[in-house]
Amino acid sequence: MARIPNGPLSIAAITFLLATARLGAQAPTTSADIQDLQYDVTFDRTTSAARTMKVAMTFTAAGSGPVVLSLPEWTPGAYEISNFARWVLEFAAKGDGRDLAWTKQDYDTWRVDPAGTKKVTVSVTYVADSLDNAMAWSRRDFLLFNGTNVFLYPEGRPLAFGARVTVHTEPEWRVVTGMHNDGANSYRAMNYHDLVDMPFFIGRFDLDSAQVSGKWVRYATYPQGSVSGVARLTAWDQIKRVIPPEVAVFGEAPWEHYTVMQIADSSYQGASGLEHQSSHVDVVSPAAIGSQFQPSLYAHEIFHAWNVKRLRPADLWPYQYDRAQPTPWLWVSEGITDYYADLAEVRGGVIDENGFYAATAAKMREVDQTRPVSLDDASIDTWIHPVDGTQYTYYAKGSLAGFMLDIMIRDASDNRQSLDNVMRDLYTTVYKAGRGFTATDWWSAVSKAAGGRSFSDFNARYVEGREPYPWDRVLTLAGLRATRPTAPRLGVYTLLDTGGVLVTRVEEGSSAAAAGVREGDYLLAVGDIPVSDEQFGEHFRAKFGTAADGSPLIVKVRRGGQMVSLTGKLRFAPGDIILGADPKANAKAVRIRNGILKGS
Ligand SMILES: [Zn+2]
Repeated sequence: MARIPNGPLSIAAITFLLATARLGAQAPTTSADIQDLQYDVTFDRTTSAARTMKVAMTFTAAGSGPVVLSLPEWTPGAYEISNFARWVLEFAAKGDGRDLAWTKQDYDTWRVDPAGTKKVTVSVTYVADSLDNAMAWSRRDFLLFNGTNVFLYPEGRPLAFGARVTVHTEPEWRVVTGMHNDGANSYRAMNYHDLVDMPFFIGRFDLDSAQVSGKWVRYATYPQGSVSGVARLTAWDQIKRVIPPEVAVFGEAPWEHYTVMQIADSSYQGASGLEHQSSHVDVVSPAAIGSQFQPSLYAHEIFHAWNVKRLRPADLWPYQYDRAQPTPWLWVSEGITDYYADLAEVRGGVIDENGFYAATAAKMREVDQTRPVSLDDASIDTWIHPVDGTQYTYYAKGSLAGFMLDIMIRDASDNRQSLDNVMRDLYTTVYKAGRGFTATDWWSAVSKAAGGRSFSDFNARYVEGREPYPWDRVLTLAGLRATRPTAPRLGVYTLLDTGGVLVTRVEEGSSAAAAGVREGDYLLAVGDIPVSDEQFGEHFRAKFGTAADGSPLIVKVRRGGQMVSLTGKLRFAPGDIILGADPKANAKAVRIRNGILKGS
């Protein structure tokens, strides 16, 4: 998953999720055996008018006793309990054409009595109105759904069963999914895990494809025309640049084909991606198309095809759909994925070395501004969406932990080994052996790449512990340095609204405080810099960077409809962290720096 801020869930919503999660602790029941599973999905002009889809599950009742069928509580990658049964509108069961009796066993489980019949069809009408990449969402001409939302599974039985999916839709509408296509609108999955890891787009959307790293990659975007012309060429260029450096880490593109599936909708703030083994789904605000964040989102989600969809913590192996699966390893599965998104961008030439430094410095600032939390705790806590600001810390902080490990491994091996070796080692041994990685697997692979060096102290301080990262020592090894040059500091937090640039907070001891700027003022001018958008800070620092601390500063604001001119004093303070190459780096450090940037 990757997100940029899109408004937190309300407290009420979170409380509801937790309450329902507790209610779900029912005694497990094993379903009678069922075979020859077939799912029929119907989405056409009729169902779309009601923002619904219909799903029929047909099977042979092979055992005796009731068939107990459940819907998942969550979609892997979106670490929160959603209870997809909430959106089931109608449920029906038929055996050999006759209505069958059924009851609900708990909120997401149905108990169907086949009453001696063999060919059973269970059907649901499902409400597809949630604009979320883990859920189902429709328009008059389009549907996104995840298998976790609608594909029932037999409770308590192995999930190794294969299944066929047939899509019934308007003849001129398209279907795209990462699932293996068997011809017409028929698809086949080898087991339930694959079945629910391959979301579908059905309807009218743009779709094209290209060969990247020897496999077909498709780009599906809704609505039609939302990514066109130069924007589409740019997106394709980014996809073609970020995939090969990622393939180089692991030595193979693990998919039959890969599909980037994207929805742009003006009701959505920010951007969010959700990974799968052969596709990912992005939901973005139209403003995110062509933004700096776009290639980093694609690179992040695609890297997940290896890191988390295949190479995965043992806590998440296999996925369990009826409960939360907390793990302390999201700093690797999400954080290190985000480190490799930056590396894929710089190694693929989407950004240059300065772009990589800027992205890394932004993560350092984010960690700096978040209360200290251990990577383990932040990973585990994500399921409860803590409100203390640490909810997604494992992305930035985990990314930086990966960056530090990369530097330390390269330092220990004189740049002959790197974090790339760790990732490939675990992928080819642990994942290919059909299991998830443990703490021993992880730290052994890190230690091996670093020539046997122990990382137990690193783990105690920076993964399980809350100590600040030792940047001065580690960055030197890679010929880098972080500085916080002092800069003029106005000291206001602002928000752009219909009235202009609104002051929401004034820092104590800042230039703005000295001038008497108040919360609720609209900024009009700072010195002779007019303020019309939130970019004025850059102009302010550029203009007054060489002025003397304490020199007079006029700030003009609108306060209660009146124009007010305030006189204060310019104040300097340590500015943002800036990361850059150290001109005094030794030859070994330069080799390490180049190794990180070039993947060598
Ligand atoms: Zn992610």
